Amino acid sequence: MRTCRTIAELRAALESRRGGAIGLVPTMGALHDGHRALLRAARDECEFVVMSLFVNPAQFSAPADLNGYPREEEHDLALAADAGVDFAFVPTAEEMYPPGFQTWVDVTELGAGLEGAFRPGHFRGVATVCLKLFAIVRPDLVYFGQKDAQQVEVLRQMIHDLALDLELRAIPTVRDTDGLALSSRNARLTAEERQRALALPRALATRDAAAAREALEAAGIAVEYVETAPFDPPVLAAAVRVGSTRLIDNFPLEGDAP
Ligand code: AMP
Repeated sequence: MRTCRTIAELRAALESRRGGAIGLVPTMGALHDGHRALLRAARDECEFVVMSLFVNPAQFSAPADLNGYPREEEHDLALAADAGVDFAFVPTAEEMYPPGFQTWVDVTELGAGLEGAFRPGHFRGVATVCLKLFAIVRPDLVYFGQKDAQQVEVLRQMIHDLALDLELRAIPTVRDTDGLALSSRNARLTAEERQRALALPRALATRDAAAAREALEAAGIAVEYVETAPFDPPVLAAAVRVGSTRLIDNFPLEGDAP
């Protein structure tokens, strides 16, 4: 695996690889088995796999959340190499947002509700960084987790609206054996909070917004939203706070349990 830290370096490295399918897996690091599932899907389907590792400041509204985001580059690069990644792209914030940066992509309707309502500007940050990554890598396929169902919808819309020549693959949510969706933020939970957080997948398993809200509140969990969303597939999605940690999850309302 080769690690590239600048756009120029990655572009030059990819130049001679344009014959086969290139897969891109964008991540913010602190990699776990959820990310590994995306990398595995890319490895199975593509000739070359690029993984980006970039904690995107533009998608955080709270500075404390950005500053406290886990950073484990050495571990992440070892995991990526083990998963068969060909190129790790690890840019600095200045590389992605050089001085004077002023171009933003806003998926206005899909990006406004649910997460967008509680994290203003979040999807503008996500869409902008993803479009920039797509422009740098020029992938044939891009891989995202269904865990972030609204992110998948927003990016599908952007790809459609801007006629981007690539395909998005949505990979099912990977959960711990106890049902909690894997997330880089889980590391912030105390043992007691981790136990309490199990109420989230259990509540979503009711597949009913009112019942889920009631179950979460009964478990002493602060609910930001629990709503059904008309995505593809439709989901029951929730964001909650367990202690100071914000967790999101969703269950599809069609097909098998995730
Ligand atoms: P992140 O590093 O949290 O930005 O996540 C990078 C990608 O991994 C996103 O497309 C996420 O949706 C995906 N992802 C995160 N957690 C999981 C999970 N538990 N299962 C499947 N995909 C996930």
